[in-house]
Amino acid sequence: MSSPPRHENPADRPERELGPETPVQFLRGVGPHRARRLARIGIHTIADLVRHLPREHQDRRETVAIGSLRAETSVTVRGLVRAVNRRALGPSRRARSVVTATVDDGTGWVVAEFWNQPWRAEQLAAGTDVILSGRVVWSAEGPRMSGPEVELPAEDEETTALHAGRIVPIHPLTQGIHATRMRALVWRALPVVADAIEDPLPAPLRARRDLPALGDALREIHFPASLESLATARRRLKYEELFLLQVALARRRLRQRLEEKPHRIVVDERLDARIRARFPFALTGAQSRCVAEIAGDLMAPTPMNRLLQGDVGAGKTVVAAYGMLAVVAHHHQAALLAPTEILAEQHFATLSRFLAGSAVRLSLVKGGARSKRRRQALEALAAHDVDIAVGTHALIQEGVRFADLAFVVVDEQHKFGVLQRAALRDKGLHPDLLVMSATPIPRTLTMTLFGDLDVSILDELPPGRQPVETMLCREGDRRRAYDWVRREIARGRRVYHIVPLVEQSEELPLRAAVEFADELRRDVFPDVGVGLLHGRLKPDEKDAAMEAFRSGATPVLVATSVVEVGVDVPEATVLVVEHAERFGLAQLHQLRGRIGRGRDASRMICFHDAHTPDARARLDALASTTDGFRIAEEDLRIRGPGEFLGTRQSGVPELRIADLVADAPLLVEARRDAFALVERDPGLRDEGAPTGRALARYLGELPG
Ligand code: ADP
Ligand code: MG
Repeated sequence: MSSPPRHENPADRPERELGPETPVQFLRGVGPHRARRLARIGIHTIADLVRHLPREHQDRRETVAIGSLRAETSVTVRGLVRAVNRRALGPSRRARSVVTATVDDGTGWVVAEFWNQPWRAEQLAAGTDVILSGRVVWSAEGPRMSGPEVELPAEDEETTALHAGRIVPIHPLTQGIHATRMRALVWRALPVVADAIEDPLPAPLRARRDLPALGDALREIHFPASLESLATARRRLKYEELFLLQVALARRRLRQRLEEKPHRIVVDERLDARIRARFPFALTGAQSRCVAEIAGDLMAPTPMNRLLQGDVGAGKTVVAAYGMLAVVAHHHQAALLAPTEILAEQHFATLSRFLAGSAVRLSLVKGGARSKRRRQALEALAAHDVDIAVGTHALIQEGVRFADLAFVVVDEQHKFGVLQRAALRDKGLHPDLLVMSATPIPRTLTMTLFGDLDVSILDELPPGRQPVETMLCREGDRRRAYDWVRREIARGRRVYHIVPLVEQSEELPLRAAVEFADELRRDVFPDVGVGLLHGRLKPDEKDAAMEAFRSGATPVLVATSVVEVGVDVPEATVLVVEHAERFGLAQLHQLRGRIGRGRDASRMICFHDAHTPDARARLDALASTTDGFRIAEEDLRIRGPGEFLGTRQSGVPELRIADLVADAPLLVEARRDAFALVERDPGLRDEGAPTGRALARYLGELPG
């Protein structure tokens, strides 16, 4: 094979032939070595470099007179190098070295020091005109700047005034790429990319929202002419990010609207009354409203895609049961997916109670892929020998077949993302879908994550509930707390005692929980049954522990946070949490939702050892409100969306610049515009063509 002619080598191309998608390696100043380092932070193409947005900016437009420097300030100064000195800190050639340069501007002098950059001695030869930016500290001899950024005004025309004399971008860095290098690379990439990338925002929309063009925004976000133009650029890029996301959601929703479902379920008054008669209580007003919304969806020609949102204890299960019974009355199948086996067991038990004496065939499908029981259960689904299947998310795994699945309920939706929903559809199923979230999700996040769903809100608790009182306790309060617990037990109540899961160790939480339970049995409640529940128990052992607690055989249940979601034992009135500072806010709120489910007053007792302001803020927020939506907003603010939703599973695309809490108003605008655009131009062929191409390019169309 002959090697290609030399001019074909991309490395030799003149710079003007570079394009946005050219590997970053070929940008002048990068090369294979730095390209590898950039790849570590996701920068592969020249366009990636431009989309590597600064995390902040420093206003270095004004230089400060050296004579007026103060300690612990970040400044830019300009002066002439008076003296430069290089010292090796050892005999060998590879020893650490320090270069110090004394810079004088006529009002005073400052010493700049550079560790292990021996070449600085040549760069900063005496007499050099230099601009330094960095932090000032005070040493015995006077002001000092350690490792400041250096700009030589006359050195290189292209990079002149990149690092000083302007509002300077501070980019996220990676090992081996320093701030000034990164800045220079972005500067070089901008002319290659900025005007070559098609603007995803349709021009009329941009005009209406008064947003600058993409190229201008990119230039200004890195090297802003003013603080105002920086703000405008940021706003534009945030808007674009939110807009693209919302267009993707709007299109998916449109596709769902176009689907035709094979079944049509009519919920008339007779059926409605028959279903309600199955429940041991009357539905609340909010439950009735949600049930009517679901019935409306069931009757519609297109599949339901609905989120049922309600605080812990609001009574979502019965709303879901209503929908399932309506579907089953029409001889189709329904499935209820829970995030844990414990919860699946509980839902199964609840439905069994509702359905006692009816002809509806209920099945609990457990894990343990190879067990005979499971195989039989699955066969029953495929043969339509089962009407309602309850199980974990494994129920929709590959290999599971339903004869006629018309309705799927997913409990605890926040752990069940957009992608899994799509997976369901990919199995060729177009069931009506109801997802339920007990972790109240802030509105902004609902719009992002579930922007393609209709939303029903359960904003009313069942009657007779009393708010849970939350107490923050220190070790010294323990005796009194136990006295209280004992009194509650004497009155026939149940007590959860939660010990935290210690991350990084599988063994520790287990041992901690086991030992803690032993200790309680021995030292505190020798006369009372103390049960133990943790994630490593076998399913049968879990069932037994839960059952003993429910029945009152062991009125105290020591548990790791496996009881966090959904568990419903109305007799439980006390929840003790050990090391409450180690739990997230939403998690604590979920835990608190385990009590206050009956008519009796309930109390959450949080033992904590909070030292950090964040931990303290979380606990104070918990104690000050029982409003799940306020808690969720607070939690999202403290933790950010990725963590809030717990893992990448969530299906939220990583937002580079927009902030779901702070930018909520912008999200509302972007959403309105996005849905309007998709309405006008569903195929994104006319006005929305650039948007469509951008979606394909950057987000990859969300599946589904
Ligand atoms: P969540 O919304 O947290 O899933 P559940 O569905 O587990 O709540 O319901 C919480 C408790 O409230 C259960 O014990 C349930 O039986 C009870 N409940 C639900 N709806 C009503 C109602 N309308 N009247 C009285 N109790 C209700
Ligand atoms: Mg629930």
